[in-house]
Amino acid sequence: MAKTKYIFVTGGVASSLGKGIISASLGKLLQARGYSVTIQKLDPYLNVDPGTLNPYEHGECYVTIDGAETDLDLGHYERFLNEETSQRNNVTTGRIYKNVIEKERRGDYLGKTVQIIPHITDEIKRNIKLLGTKGQYDFIITEIGGTVGDIESLPYIEAVRQMKWDMEGQCLYIHLTLVPFLAASGELKTKPTQHSVKQLLESGIQPDILVLRTEKPLTSDIKRKVGLFCNVDKSSVIESRDVPTIYEVPIAMLNEQLDTTILKKFKMKPGNEPELKPWRLFLERHKNPQQTVSIALVGKYVELADAYKSIIESFVHAGATHDCKVNLKLIHSETLSKESVHEILQGCSGILVAPGFGHRGIDGKLIAIQYAREKTIPFLGICLGMQCAVIEFARNVLGFELANSTEMSRKTQYPVIDIMAEQKDIADKGGTMRLGGFPCNLKKRSLVHKIYKLDSVIERHRHRYEFNNAYLEDFQENGMVASGRNPETNLVEIIELTTHPFFIGVQFHPEYRSTVVNPHPLFEAFIQASLKYEKQK
Ligand code: GLN
Repeated sequence: MAKTKYIFVTGGVASSLGKGIISASLGKLLQARGYSVTIQKLDPYLNVDPGTLNPYEHGECYVTIDGAETDLDLGHYERFLNEETSQRNNVTTGRIYKNVIEKERRGDYLGKTVQIIPHITDEIKRNIKLLGTKGQYDFIITEIGGTVGDIESLPYIEAVRQMKWDMEGQCLYIHLTLVPFLAASGELKTKPTQHSVKQLLESGIQPDILVLRTEKPLTSDIKRKVGLFCNVDKSSVIESRDVPTIYEVPIAMLNEQLDTTILKKFKMKPGNEPELKPWRLFLERHKNPQQTVSIALVGKYVELADAYKSIIESFVHAGATHDCKVNLKLIHSETLSKESVHEILQGCSGILVAPGFGHRGIDGKLIAIQYAREKTIPFLGICLGMQCAVIEFARNVLGFELANSTEMSRKTQYPVIDIMAEQKDIADKGGTMRLGGFPCNLKKRSLVHKIYKLDSVIERHRHRYEFNNAYLEDFQENGMVASGRNPETNLVEIIELTTHPFFIGVQFHPEYRSTVVNPHPLFEAFIQASLKYEKQK
């Protein structure tokens, strides 16, 4: 069996150049050529995982099926490859140090002085190789977070430098940089790339392939020049020009032959050029929508769209199924009041209330939900959005005026959402929520049963609070039914209104499971219902 190949992706010149998208696109192309691929992200911060980070800091926290709270780039990997990732696919400096310090405390280092080199770098290498131990992957693409030259990414750079010597012929480096266009002189500038490669060379890494992010096409002369100054053959200087959607990047990289350049370097067979049929079909529909629909995304982190990355992408995937462009209006829940709600939401044919934590912005979410319920506008509530739907119903339909979640009001008279029993004695905040995939049985003849066309599904969770079953009868008698429940614990995972054409709240996060070739049925159905509502308006 051929040995697993490791591809390391570093970035230079500026952050946010799209290493994650380049890694995911390359993964997609290698996968389309018949190779098995996974993608890993190494993050240089000291948090053990991003689970404790505020979305303003780092965007959305993505949750894997095995319950890891991870960087949002893992969402891109899954959406592109249509394959699940796991705890092993995201490693932070915090986790590396934690492991090393735990080993030190156990006495595993037998009295040695514990140092960054070799102990931290060895732990990094161990974590990279862990993904390959079962030999199930032809390629492991490892994206190194941050920008070359950052103090905090130095141990990662050193670790991957060593790997090339530990595993001869199995490793290759891609360096992604920016070639800025200076409007004043009308020129593309390669000097930042040259400096960035010099910086890498100082750490002992010679990139094999350069991917140059640019607004304008790179001339053959520029490619030759960059190649010459950076010791890379011209055919390994790849242009990555700005494209209107991230989903075009795999096609752009195919045209630039990023995948075949890599395969050649590893002396592997490229085989036939992949057709990428489902991908191209999706792109075609995504770029030429036949209809549009306006949907409101009500949340409290709307200033930073990255905070709702997976939800936004889920609308892109499911929209394409209906040849539909979803005009997603990000609405800050704090702007919603009884007086403003109609003006703000009247143009929308669907309302999604987002996940979240804490008290801020709750009132606006409740107002949006009441508006959707009373005006029979299609509604989807995710996690906190579902919990708010329960609170709203309790207050305004059941007449439990002060109903609340104990997250917002610990001593509420009507704790319709309450902390889960298993969560009561947990003090630590990191990695302790109900996390990852759990089964959910769907009630026969319910709306969700019709949508999923399944009796049972597995969806991913990230929460501490749950529907309080002590009130279930009150809700069911009045038209809010539990249409999805956990088969072991009986926890209510889905609620829906029998008196409304499309009113669904889910305790889990369907958005983590939507991919380009496999849009999520709940998002597809939500868009369909919103289109129908728009036509009837
Ligand atoms: N704050 C709520 C809980 O912990 C909802 C979490 C979420 O929306 N992800 O249960």
